[in-house]
Amino acid sequence: MIIVLKPNVTKQQFDHVLDRIKALGLKPMVSKGTERTIIGVIGPEDALRSQPLEVIPGVEKVMPVLKPYKLVSREFKPESTVISINGIKVGGKELVVMAGPCSVENRKMLFETAKAVKRAGAQILRGGAFKPRTSPYAFQGLREDGLKLLREAAKATGMSVVTELLDVRDMKAVERYADIIQIGARNMQNFELLKEVGLSRKPILLKRGLSATINEFLLAAEYILSQGNFNVILCERGIRTFETATRFTLDLSAIPVIKKLSHLPIVVDPSHGVGAWDLVGPMAKAAVAAGADGLLIEVHPNPEVALSDGPQSLLPKNFAILMKETRKVAQAVGRTL
Ligand code: PEP
Ligand code: MN
Repeated sequence: MIIVLKPNVTKQQFDHVLDRIKALGLKPMVSKGTERTIIGVIGPEDALRSQPLEVIPGVEKVMPVLKPYKLVSREFKPESTVISINGIKVGGKELVVMAGPCSVENRKMLFETAKAVKRAGAQILRGGAFKPRTSPYAFQGLREDGLKLLREAAKATGMSVVTELLDVRDMKAVERYADIIQIGARNMQNFELLKEVGLSRKPILLKRGLSATINEFLLAAEYILSQGNFNVILCERGIRTFETATRFTLDLSAIPVIKKLSHLPIVVDPSHGVGAWDLVGPMAKAAVAAGADGLLIEVHPNPEVALSDGPQSLLPKNFAILMKETRKVAQAVGRTL
């Protein structure tokens, strides 16, 4: 259920509604918009059905939410969410670009990449320190040493950091060094991990699972919001289909669909979506044209020797071209980059 309050609701009436919800053993989650305050009710709703909450002064209407998710829905929060990270706004008019290597490999390659992507206009440095690899024999990441390098490179270039958290045991370390915590596609339905990052105050970049429907994707985000962390950035990164010409199938229709269903910002990762560097630029432009709030792009100074995802990594000079071309598309759809 969601409870829409009248525009002129008093503080006393508002508090009374919260008290009634809590007395029924339910949890109120408040969304204060510019025009209306809406309360999402979390918990078993049966208790509410026999309660005529509409009669409480200050309540305009009580509406059932037919979708399985509540807090991520546009019904709960009609205005689009804009997330601020060190002065960078995700979900506003300006697009946000997160760029960097798949994995943090060493200081030299990281600093070189960070400087290049910053120069080309990226605001956020990406790089994996804990890597979810298909093979246990593949490079698993530099772990905490990688986190430290990311922080240093970001400081040197004036960028913010997004990096993946694979396991709750590394939560404190990742929280300490990262500005945004990434939950990767393979962990989209690791519900205990989602609950844990829901308790963090850091923004979360939640990637769509390899075989997740949009409904499952939004329910995964709901796990995070339900714990109190409303700063979730969704990321479309391609799904498994019968097509094998690309690594995954980048589902760009997810952007307008999610924009209709949810207030959360959504960025697109064409690098993992297509798996080939020469296809990244066209899909980045298409993503921006379709309404994405930003991009996540893998860049490597020497993709030939990359320890992970070399084939899809752009050389810095090609990343600069991507930025220049995407800027024109951004302008055409009323965004800036
Ligand atoms: C990544 O961003 O490096 C990554 C592993 O992505 P995904 O979880 O989408 O595969
Ligand atoms: Mn990668």
